[in-house]
Parts: sequence; structure tokens; C-alpha cells
Amino acid sequence: MAGRNFLFVPGPTNTPDRILRAMHRAMEDHRSSDFPALAAPVLEDLKKIFKTSTGQAFVFPASGTGAWEASLTNTLSPGDKVLASRFGMFSHLWIDMAQRLGLEVEVLDAEWGEGAPVERYRDALAADKEHRIKAVLFTHNETATGVTSDVAGVRKALSEAQHPALLMVDGVSSIASIDFRMDEWGVDLAVTGSQKGLMLPAGLGVVCASQKALSKYDQAKLPRCFFDFGDMRKANATGYFPYTPSLPMLYGLRESLAMLLEEGLENVFIRHHRLAEGTRQAVKAWGLELCARAPHWHSDTVTAIMVPPGINGAEVIDIAYRRYNLALGAGLARMAGRLFRIGHLGDLNELMLLGGIAGAEMAMRDAGIKVTLGSGVAAAQEYWRGTAAPLEKRELPPRAPEAQPAAAPSKKATAGAAR
Ligand SMILES: *Cc1c(COP(=O)(O)O)cnc(C)c1O
Repeated sequence: MAGRNFLFVPGPTNTPDRILRAMHRAMEDHRSSDFPALAAPVLEDLKKIFKTSTGQAFVFPASGTGAWEASLTNTLSPGDKVLASRFGMFSHLWIDMAQRLGLEVEVLDAEWGEGAPVERYRDALAADKEHRIKAVLFTHNETATGVTSDVAGVRKALSEAQHPALLMVDGVSSIASIDFRMDEWGVDLAVTGSQKGLMLPAGLGVVCASQKALSKYDQAKLPRCFFDFGDMRKANATGYFPYTPSLPMLYGLRESLAMLLEEGLENVFIRHHRLAEGTRQAVKAWGLELCARAPHWHSDTVTAIMVPPGINGAEVIDIAYRRYNLALGAGLARMAGRLFRIGHLGDLNELMLLGGIAGAEMAMRDAGIKVTLGSGVAAAQEYWRGTAAPLEKRELPPRAPEAQPAAAPSKKATAGAAR
């Protein structure tokens, strides 16, 4: 199909040309004396994205799932108890991993569409007088339902209970897109992957660990090898990796960090918020419901849109893909067919997103949903026009004078021109 594929799944996201060019290189020796000049600054700059000065960043050749595993296996032992809530596919999968690794998980189930139940975390932590809970798992942005939860709130719950458990946060679809403050919120392990806010292909699992998390390493007895913090720290200390790193991914990550820091993290967050809000205005104009149940849970990286009863959301997605070259996110697990998702994170601006919204309208109409064509587009346009930053004055070329009414040409001249 001619033209660009409109990629609006919430990961992988669009990789900017700048990053693609940075990745397009001949391979090099990862044991050369030049290599640390690439690796060391990347690991240092990553900390700025997590907003930590005291933590340590780890980069594994993996995806977000690998970073989940690294956070658990480097700090916990078999049979340790962890506290986690489940309110979507990703929070579910992290719990499933913890159970399969041999941890005992106290699960707080919440409705899919609600955020993590901070009050219930507070109650469970207060009740745990013997401090059997060794870690609290918290999914900052549940990508399956388009819901963002209150990390500062769960830290407050830990502090109020004076509970020593580690705070582990899945920030795969929030970090580098939505405000995240590792040090300020006392996050001990923060997890992300390369293919979301970092705008890279999938291939890196990134985790930042606090000093408190690192101090658990020696006593943590879960089996680990590939994801061992100890091997990684020893090699990273001299600017190397314990096994072959992916050079294109490291060059890409260096460019990604440069782009994010050039734009400024706060500007990145504002941009994501405006893009998300415009999308939500479109959904409102369509007369459809969000999966997210309340505004304080609305995600600025992904919007999950419920389709009306009798409509299969998978059909909307399939039509969008095959007819309009538009990739929308699917409903997962218990949300299969009941919703579709628009990812609006990474390298994105208003007009790109208008293409996605327009295509979603067409696909919805084709699938039998009674939305008015152009209604969502118009609502987003109005929102973005109304919230655009004022322009500074610039000298422009003047408007040309109005043309004088032309004298009626003589019959002779007309006849001549016709010949
Ligand atoms: C994408 C995602 C993951 C899984 O990451 P992979 O890179 O696919 O392993 C985990 N958690 C959240 C919230 C995600 O959005």
C-alpha cells in the first residue's frame, strides 16, 4: 500500500527518522577501548528520564517483560510475599510471572477500567504488622485499559504504614511520556522497554534500581543468570556489558535520549497530555465511552474506546488495517472485541493523530457504528487550536495588492488568441 502505515498501537511506536539514521551503522567491537564512550553516557542519561540521581540504570537485551523479571529475581527469594493489584492485561501478566517464579502474591483485584486501588494497598500494608510483604508491585499505566494510577499515593501508603517493602513500578507505557519521578516517589525498581516512550524498536528491557533495591541483591535467592544485576554492575562499571550488547539499539537509545532531553521532559509530558486530551474530545464527540472509568485515571499515552453492544471491536481494527493502512490497538483478554485502543505516545504530533482519528471514524462507520464522519476530527481540531501555544511575531512578506478589474478584451484579440 502506498504512503505510510499509520501506527497507532501503544507500542511499538513510531521510530523517528533521526533515530533510524543513528541506528543504521556498521557493527563495531563491543570490547574496543572506544566502546565505553558510547555506553557509559547512555546509562547516565537514562537516569534523567527516570528522574533519579541516586539510582542505577540497567539495560538488558530484552523487552519490558525481561525488565519485570530482572526486578523480581535480583531482589526477592522463593516464597517471599508480594502485594500487587490486577486491573488489566499487563498488571495480570506481572502477577502471573511473580507466581511462576515462586513468589506468593497477595492479589488485589479491581475492575478493568479502574486504577490501582491505593486505599486497599494501604489497608493491606497496615495489616501486615510482621512485614511479610517484601515488595509492592504497581502498574503505573495499564496499557490494556488506558488507565494511569497514583504512584505517589502508594508510596504514601507505604510511608504511613512505615512499611519497608520495596516499591516496584511498571512504567513501560508511562516512562518518557507521562510524569514519573523515581527519587521523589521513592520507587525502588522502575521498569520500562524500548518500544514505547523511548521511540525505539523492541529489544531493550530497562530497569532502574534504587540503592535500597541494590542492597537486597546479596540476600535475594531467586534463580537468575541472564538478568543478573551483579554481572551487569561489574561490567557496566568499566563501560562494558557482560555479554554482546545490541549496538544499533544503543546508538538508537543515545539518539532517543538526546531528543527527549532537547525537547525537555516537561514539554514531552505536556505534548502527550494535549494529544491525549484531543483524542478524548474526539471520543466524546463520537458518543462513545472510554474504558477508563473516571477522569483522574485517564491515560495520556493510550485511549481505550468501548464499542457499542453488538459490534466486534476486532472488526473495526481489521477494517482500519486492511482498508486504511491504520494500526489500532486490540482489546486484550476480557476486553477482547469490546474495545479498540489508540496509542498516542512517542514521536507524534497533532496532524499525525488526526490521521488516526479520521481513519478510526471511517473504520467504525464501515463496521456499523453510527458515528458522524468528521465529528471526532473536528472536536480534536477545536481542542488543539484552542490550546495551541501563542506564536511570537515574525516579519512576513506583505499580501499582494488586489488585482485591478481587467478591461474587457476586444473581440479581435479574443478571436486571435483562440486561433
Ligand atoms: C508493553 C507493556 C509491557 C510488556 O512489555 P514487552 O516489551 O512487550 O515485554 C509491560 N507492561 C506494560 C504496562 C506495557 O505497556
